[in-house]
Amino acid sequence: ATPTAVTVGIGRGAELGLLIRNGEALEVSEKLTAIVFDKTGTLTRGKPDVTDIIPLGMPEDRLLAVAAAVERNSQHPLGEAVVRRAESAGVGIPASKRFTTFSGRGVSAVVEGEEVLIGNQPFLEEHGIAVPPEAEREIAALQDKGKTAVLVAAGAGLAGILAIADTLKPTTKSAIAELKRMGLAVTMITGDNERTANAIAREVGIEDVHAGVLPQEKALEVRALQERGAVVAFVGDGINDAPALAQADVGIAIGSGTDVAIESGDIVLIRDDLTDAVAAVELSRKVMSRIK
Ligand code: ADP
Ligand code: MG
Repeated sequence: ATPTAVTVGIGRGAELGLLIRNGEALEVSEKLTAIVFDKTGTLTRGKPDVTDIIPLGMPEDRLLAVAAAVERNSQHPLGEAVVRRAESAGVGIPASKRFTTFSGRGVSAVVEGEEVLIGNQPFLEEHGIAVPPEAEREIAALQDKGKTAVLVAAGAGLAGILAIADTLKPTTKSAIAELKRMGLAVTMITGDNERTANAIAREVGIEDVHAGVLPQEKALEVRALQERGAVVAFVGDGINDAPALAQADVGIAIGSGTDVAIESGDIVLIRDDLTDAVAAVELSRKVMSRIK
C-alpha cells in the first residue's frame, strides 16, 4: 500500500504544477545524485530562429528557397526555423521530391533535379561534400556564439550556411544553480555539436557536456552513469528522449513536449518551467523525511 505521505505528496505536487505518475518516482527522487538535461526544448525554448544567412556562390534568396523546399518536409525545430524565415522573406519555395531524414544529422531531397543536403558538417562530409577552411572558420565562430550552423549543399558543392539560434528559457540558469546547490551532479546531453553545446552549457552553468550524441545513444549515456553508481533523473521533451526518460531512475518530461516523451515520463512538468524540477526534488525530500 502507498504510504499516506506519498499520496499527500502527489496531491501537493499537482498544486505545484507537477504531474507525478507514480509514488515510486517521488520516493526515488529523494535518492537522486545526478540530473541529466536534453538541450533543445528542455534547457532552451526549442523555438529557434535563423540569425545569419551566408550564401556561398548563390544569391541569398535562392539559398533560402532551396533550403526551405527540403525543410518544409521536416518536423525538426531547425527545419521549421528555415521555413519560417523563407516565408517571412517572401521567397517562392519550389517543390521537392524524395525527402529523407537522417536522424540526428540532417535531411535531403531533390529540388528542381538537384540533390540538396542540409545538416551538420559530418553529415555533409559523409556524402562527399567538401567544407573549405574559410567555411570551417565561419562555422566555428557561429558555434562559439551558441548558434547551430546548418550547412546546405546543392548538387556537388556547399551552397551556404544558415545559423540558427535558440534562446534559453527564463528560469533555466537559476534552476541549474539550485540543483547544484542541492548536491546534484548536472549533465547536458545533446545531438548538437560540441562547440554550440559548450557555449550554451557555459551560459547556464553546466560543466559536464555530452555533445554529438545520436538519438539512440542518449539512453546509453544514462545507463553509463547508473553503472557508475549514480541515481539519475533525465529531463527531456523530444521523441528522441523517450528511451532515456524510460532508462532513468526518474524520467521528467516537459509538459509541452512530444506525446511520446510525456508518456515515458514518471513526472511531467506541466508549466515547462525547470524550477518545477527543483520543486519535485524538494517535495520528495520533504515527503520521505516524513515517512522515515
Ligand atoms: P538535439 O538533441 O539538440 O534536439 P538532434 O539529435 O535532433 O538535436 O539533431 C542533431 C543535429 O542534427 C542538429 O544539431 C543538426 O545539426 C542536425 N539536424 C537534424 N535535423 C536537421 C534538419 N531537419 N535540418 C538541419 N539539420 C538537422
Ligand atoms: Mg529536445
